[in-house]
Amino acid sequence: MVLGALLDGALELLYPAGIYCACCGDAIDPDMPYSLCGRCVREICWMKEELAAGEACGGLSGLSGRPADLRSLRRAFSCARYESRTRSVLKKFKYGRQPGLARALGRLMLERIEGQDLTPDLVVPVPMYLPKERARGYNQAELLGREIAAGLGVPCLSGALVRSRKTGAMSALSADERRMNLRGAFETRERLRGGGSSSLSGKQILLVDDIVTTGTTADECARALLAAGAAAVDLLVFASGGAGDGGN
Ligand SMILES: [Zn+2]
Repeated sequence: MVLGALLDGALELLYPAGIYCACCGDAIDPDMPYSLCGRCVREICWMKEELAAGEACGGLSGLSGRPADLRSLRRAFSCARYESRTRSVLKKFKYGRQPGLARALGRLMLERIEGQDLTPDLVVPVPMYLPKERARGYNQAELLGREIAAGLGVPCLSGALVRSRKTGAMSALSADERRMNLRGAFETRERLRGGGSSSLSGKQILLVDDIVTTGTTADECARALLAAGAAAVDLLVFASGGAGDGGN
């Protein structure tokens, strides 16, 4: 993996972690953990509780920070509430062409599940609609998934799920409308090819995304993975709640 190491080195030069705050951009003490300045660490709304999973909590996700639609997930974890500071860091990561932030965010996400007794066999990132991924140049969930998989020492199966169509923003829709909107939008690559699902069968899967808003997207991904034989699906995101930016 010499090429990988060289590439990592190049990214480190372009996006030096630990010199500028990943959130506000202020210069920070290089010894600070997490690439965040002290003020941002204090002001980000860190989430200690697990997101409600395995049930519909029915409330407005934007108010509680808890997504409503996580029925198919066994457990779900988020580092922080989606509010002004986490919004700004995710905007930089997704739209500001700063893929190097994956390392700082991935580290925070790994820390979030430390001691939670999760033993995933695989990491699967929430896929983007391919034309959209091509336009952006990367899938932010995949970059996070790779960091997390490397930290856990398990494979990251970035091609396991396919997003077959564009789905658009969903925060203004009802729970039923969101489900209708996403029905059939995610499928496993193996099923699309008409084959078996040997790589997912019986596996504990950690689904990774940058943000969960209503939870419908993550839930539909989990449903597709379970239908392909996965034993259980847990979710890990950086931020949760809020109206989101819609449709990944
Ligand atoms: Zn900061």
